[in-house]
Amino acid sequence: RAKSHNRSGYSYFTRDMGVEIRERVRMMHALRAAFEGERLFVVYQPQVDMMTGRTVGAEALLRWRTEDGQFIPPDQFIPIAEYSGLIVNIGEWVLRSACFELMQLRENGFEDFQIAVNVSQAQFSHPQFMQSLERALRDSRIPPHCLELEITESMAMTDPEMLCSMLQKIKSMGVRISIDDFGTGFSSLSQLQKLNVDKLKIDRAFVSEIFSNHSEASIAKMIVQLSQSLNLAVIAEGVETKEQADALLSFGCKYAQGFYFAKPQTKSDLRKYLRA
Ligand code: C2E
Ligand code: MG
Ligand code: MG
Ligand code: MG
Repeated sequence: RAKSHNRSGYSYFTRDMGVEIRERVRMMHALRAAFEGERLFVVYQPQVDMMTGRTVGAEALLRWRTEDGQFIPPDQFIPIAEYSGLIVNIGEWVLRSACFELMQLRENGFEDFQIAVNVSQAQFSHPQFMQSLERALRDSRIPPHCLELEITESMAMTDPEMLCSMLQKIKSMGVRISIDDFGTGFSSLSQLQKLNVDKLKIDRAFVSEIFSNHSEASIAKMIVQLSQSLNLAVIAEGVETKEQADALLSFGCKYAQGFYFAKPQTKSDLRKYLRA
């Protein structure tokens, strides 16, 4: 309880912090209950080859629907999952869900489909991560090269050594690696080269500002050029208009993901979408 005799403002600070911590703890319990009660689910956002219009893959994105039907956005609950360690089990479950969904798509004739899964630092640094990855691949029997793990630049900064050796092992299994939200972190180019990833994902901030701000457009363009000179694949995130898609294509970026093409969809909607 905040002490009233302290007039320095410190007491307010403590009280607000108390509220914030209590709110986090409440959300953590709610998240654990949601996970155990199977109120978390995975949606899939199509990734499109803009040259041919074909959907080549999808990114798995986690969703939380509360008992009263509200949706809590991942940007709110993923940090809580990370902070509490819940992300280890939840993340493994997302990975397995995505692998099994891919297996089913393959059985339905979508054989070169790719699936991308977001992986947090806390998952990556967990000693069982490699085992759970191997298990997911073995149990679902999908070819490793159809699976892509999305990491962030900030992970490269926390522990570059650890990350490098992990990525090496993962790549030797055949699994692909991409850097999510590329351009928003501060990893250096020499680090990028050492990490030996397969793909850069241009952050949607650079896509949304292609026409409103000249320098932002140059950033998107620069990332495409960088990917070309490092021989990496590149995909743009958050493409919402035809104009953005056209501009990206003119920069040499072939792949995109965004509301202009398709929103994240449930498993059954994804199948309908792919058949159409
Ligand atoms: P992200 O990995 O960068 O995912 C892309 C986000 O952009 C998704 O938000 C997606 O719904 C949104 N998006 C896609 N196209 C558009 C568009 O055209 N316009 C706009 N405005 N947004 C678009 P979402 O699903 O809310 O996820 C937010 C973040 O939460 C993700 O960003 C990712 O960092 C994290 N996240 C989601 N699922 C997982 C998960 O299973 N594991 C982990 N570790 N993180 C996850
Ligand atoms: Mg992502
Ligand atoms: Mg992203
Ligand atoms: Mg993001």
